[in-house]
Amino acid sequence: AGQEKSDILTDEYSLNMDGFIVDWLVCGPFPNPGKWPNLANWDTDFLVTDGGEANIKPTSEMSYKSKLPDLNEKELTVKWNLVRVLPDYRDSYADIALEMMFRKTTGAPTLDKVIGYAFCYIESSADIDAKLKLGSDDGFKAWVNGNLVGSERVARGCETDQNIMPVKLKKGLNTLLLKIEDNVGGYKFIARFTDMNDQPLRTVKVRLPISVKQDKTFFTLQGAIYDTDKPFKADKKGVTKIGTVKTKKVEKPYYSGQRYTATVPDTLDLAYRAKLAIRSMGNMVDPNDEYMAWGDVLLGSNIPHMKHAAWDADCTPKYLDAMTQLRLACGTDEFIDAENGMEAMILSKLDKDDGLYYHLVTDPVRLWHYAAEYTNAGSTGMDIEDRAAVTGAAIALKALLTRNDLGFPHEKQIQALVRGIEEAAIKKDDYAYYPDGGKGVYPFTRPRSGWKNTDEPGLPGYKGVEMSLVHGKHRAYKALSLWADSSGDKQALDFAGRLARFVMKPHQWGNPSDPPSVASSELGHFKGVHFVMFSHALKDLLAYGLAAKDPYVLDFVRSSYEYFRSYGIHRMGYFAYHPTLYEAGCTHGDMTAVAIKMSRAGIGDYWDDVDRLIRNHLTESQIMDRDLLEQMVQTNPKKVLQHGHQGEICTDNVLDRVIGSFPVKMTATSIIPNRIIMCCTGNGSRGLAYAWDAIVDGQGDKAKVNLLLNRASKWVDVDSYLPYEGKVVIHNKIARQISVRIPIWVDRSKLQATVNGTKRNLSWFGAFLVFDDMKPNDTLQLDFPVTEETLRLTATEDGKKVTYTIMFRGNTVVDISPRDDSPGVYPVYLRDHMKAKKAPMKTIQRFVADKEVVRW
Ligand SMILES: [Zn+2]
Repeated sequence: AGQEKSDILTDEYSLNMDGFIVDWLVCGPFPNPGKWPNLANWDTDFLVTDGGEANIKPTSEMSYKSKLPDLNEKELTVKWNLVRVLPDYRDSYADIALEMMFRKTTGAPTLDKVIGYAFCYIESSADIDAKLKLGSDDGFKAWVNGNLVGSERVARGCETDQNIMPVKLKKGLNTLLLKIEDNVGGYKFIARFTDMNDQPLRTVKVRLPISVKQDKTFFTLQGAIYDTDKPFKADKKGVTKIGTVKTKKVEKPYYSGQRYTATVPDTLDLAYRAKLAIRSMGNMVDPNDEYMAWGDVLLGSNIPHMKHAAWDADCTPKYLDAMTQLRLACGTDEFIDAENGMEAMILSKLDKDDGLYYHLVTDPVRLWHYAAEYTNAGSTGMDIEDRAAVTGAAIALKALLTRNDLGFPHEKQIQALVRGIEEAAIKKDDYAYYPDGGKGVYPFTRPRSGWKNTDEPGLPGYKGVEMSLVHGKHRAYKALSLWADSSGDKQALDFAGRLARFVMKPHQWGNPSDPPSVASSELGHFKGVHFVMFSHALKDLLAYGLAAKDPYVLDFVRSSYEYFRSYGIHRMGYFAYHPTLYEAGCTHGDMTAVAIKMSRAGIGDYWDDVDRLIRNHLTESQIMDRDLLEQMVQTNPKKVLQHGHQGEICTDNVLDRVIGSFPVKMTATSIIPNRIIMCCTGNGSRGLAYAWDAIVDGQGDKAKVNLLLNRASKWVDVDSYLPYEGKVVIHNKIARQISVRIPIWVDRSKLQATVNGTKRNLSWFGAFLVFDDMKPNDTLQLDFPVTEETLRLTATEDGKKVTYTIMFRGNTVVDISPRDDSPGVYPVYLRDHMKAKKAPMKTIQRFVADKEVVRW
C-alpha cells in the first residue's frame, strides 16, 4: 500500500464532521438511452480503455468520447474533474451536483438519461471494518478496491444513507468508485463512511491527484456549481438582507364575536379542526427566520425534522391567508403573533418601486432560498440578485385581500402589487405569460434587473420545467379576479383574463390517451406529473370565470372537474393520481373549494361531492393522532437527518408541532410518512375554512344549510348526529326561512321534520327542503334512516389497481379494507366507533364571528 501512495502525487482532504466525503473526482456524462428501468448502459464499462471500472486510477490525461441526445449527438471529450463542496459549507452540505456539474462542463441545456462516475482514494491508518453509506439520484454501483460492494437500480431522490454497505478498508490507499445513473429529473449523490457503530470515521483521509486539481477545480453547494470558492458577495447590489421583523400589536382583534357554551353531538366539528390547523401552522412558523414557515417536514426518518426550503417565501402567505380565515371559524387566540409576524414579513418584502414581492434569492445566511431544489434543474449561471416571486406575489395578494377585508389597511400595497404583477408579465396577442426565469431555474420569477429572455414557456421544444408547472405557476389571475370583483378594477380583470387564456391554451391540456372523438383539451382533460398544478389552475380559473362572467371558462371548469373526479374513488372523496407527486392536502383542499364554489354559483349541484370530501379524505388527511405519528416514525429504520445550514433544520418537538397539518402522500387507508409540505398544509387548511364556511349560507332573514355538519352561525346553529343517527337539529336564531339540502342517499319518503316538536309538511325546492315562517329560538329537527352500504370500489395506487371493500353510513366511510399494513405508515379511517347507533355528546364553546370573511 505504501508503494502505491508514492506513485500518485496526491493532495489530502479530510472528511467532514459527519464523515461525508466532500472532495471528489467526477467523470461524465455518458449516454444512457432507453426506457426506465432498462436504460441501455447500466452495465457498460465506459472506463475500459484505462483498466475498467474495477481498476480505474484517474489522471488528468485520461479522456473519453461521449455523445448525448441533449447535445444533438455532438461528439464530446469528457475528462476527470475535481469538484469540492464550497469550503465554508463543507460541514453543512455534502451532496455532489452531477446534473449541474455535467451541464457546466458540456454546455448541455438539459441532461437526462446519463451515466457518470465519481472517484476518490481513501487513505486509512489501519485495516478496519467500516460502513459506506450512500444516497443517490438515481441508481448506483459502488466499488471499493475493485470489489463491487453494492448496487441498486432505482429511480429516486437523493437522501443521506439510503444504502448502507459494510466494507473493509486496508491500511494505506483504497480506491472508491461510484457509478451513478440518471433517469430523469435530479442527478446527484452523497456518500460517507462511518465505523461499525455508526460514528463518523476519524481515521481516514481523502486523497486526490494534484494533476487533476491543476487542470480545473469546481465547487458545489446545494445543487449548484461554481468556478470559484467565494461565489457569494454579501454586499452585492440586489441582495436581500435578512432583517428583524417588527410586529405591531393589534389593539382590537379582527375576530371578535360571540362565545357561548353548547352541548352538541360529538361528530365532525370543523371549527375544532380549524383550531388544530391554526396550531400546526403557527407552530411551523419560524420567528428566527422573519416568520417564514418551515417549508418541509421530514417524517420519513426516525429523527423527524423540519427544514426550510426555497418555497418558504411562496407559501408563507398561504399560511397567513389560511390562519386568518380559520380564526373566524373558531375564534382561537393562539398564534396571533405568528400571524402578525408573517404579515409584517410580507409587507417588508414588497418593493417600493414595482410593488412586487421579492425574496427568493441569495443571502449567504439563508442559503436554502438559493437552493436548486426549488426546481429539479439546479442553478448554474444564475446571477446573484433578488427575484420577484410572481407565484408568491399572487398568494401574498390573496392573503392581503383577506386581511384588508377585515380592516387591515393594505389597499395601497394591494394596488401596487396588482400593477406590479401585470407589469412583470409579457403580453402577446390576447394572452400574457411569465417567462421561465432562467433555464429552468426559479421558474417564472423575475430577476430584479429584468427577464433574461422573454420566450413563451411551454411551446414545443421548451426545455424548462414540466408542462403542468408551466400553467400551475401562472396563478395570479385568481387573486386579481377576486380583487377586481370587489374593487371594480377593470384593468386587473382584463389582465387576469390574459393570464387565464394563456393557462387554457389547448396545448397545456388534453390527455393523448383519450379517444380521437373526445376534444380532450377543450374539456380540461390533462396528463402531467403534478396533479395539484391542474387542480390549482382549476380553482383559479373558476374564480376568473365567475368574476368575468365567462360561460366558456365556467364550462371548461365543470367539465375538467368531472374529469378530475374520475381519478381515485369519488364516492369517498379520494383523489389519486401520480404515485409519488400526489399532494393530498393540496388536492383535497382544492377540490373541496372547486366543488363548493361551483355549487354555490349554480354551475351544478356538487354538494354530495363536497360532503363526501369533507367527511372522508379531506379531514382524514389532517394529522390528528400524536401516538400513531410516533409509532410511524419509530418503525422507520432510517436515522436520517438531512444536512442543513445553520438555522435551516429544526428537530424541536416536531411531532407535536405537526398535529393539525396535512401530508403529501396518501393512499385510501394510510398516510405515507415521507413529508408534510407547507403548500399542502396551507391548501388543506384553506379547504377546511371553505368547508366550514359552506355549511351555512345566510343572507338577510334567509338561511341555507348546504351540508349536514356541525356549525354555529349568526342565522342558525346546526347539530349533526351523522353518521351515528339520521338526525339533524337546527337551532334558529334570526332566520325566517331555512332551506336544508338533503343528501342524495336519504330516502325522502322516510324523512320527517318537526319544528318545536310539531310535525311539518315537507316543501321541496330541488334537493332543498324549505321551511318558512320560522321564528327566533325555534328548533327544527330532521329525522331519517341512515343508509348503510358496502361497496367494492377501485383506485390505482403506485401503478397498481386496488379494489377496496368500503362500508358507508350515508356519505361517511366507517370501514375500509384491505388496509395498508406495511410498517411505518400512519393508518387512517380507524372509525369503528362510528358504527354505533347513538352519537356521543360533548360540551363545547361555540364562536360566531361578528364579521365573517372567507374570500376565495
Ligand atoms: Zn401541496
